[in-house]
Amino acid sequence: MSEVENQEEVKVEKAPKTERTDKPEREDRPVKKYRKPAKKKVCAFCVAGEKTIDYKDVAKIKKYITENGKILPRRQTGVCSYHQRELANAIKRARNMALLPYIGE
Ligand SMILES: [Zn+2]
Repeated sequence: MSEVENQEEVKVEKAPKTERTDKPEREDRPVKKYRKPAKKKVCAFCVAGEKTIDYKDVAKIKKYITENGKILPRRQTGVCSYHQRELANAIKRARNMALLPYIGE
């Protein structure tokens, strides 16, 4: 039974120690926002081996426009420069053919 008493004593001693390591010092420091290094995106059209982008393929093109109907920038889509140009043309053609909206719903 003496062992149980000893354990209790140890617990009581430890509790105040955790309270002593207070936060004020940490709060004074400016919090650095750590951003994960972005994974290198690979052009989906290059992977698929498509050279041209069909403006009639609305299902595929729709992924590269915003809700408002804007064309997404390359840094978001990860499409290569060649395919981004092709994609932009395809979207513009699709808009002209009323397959995609100029301004979102
Ligand atoms: Zn590409």
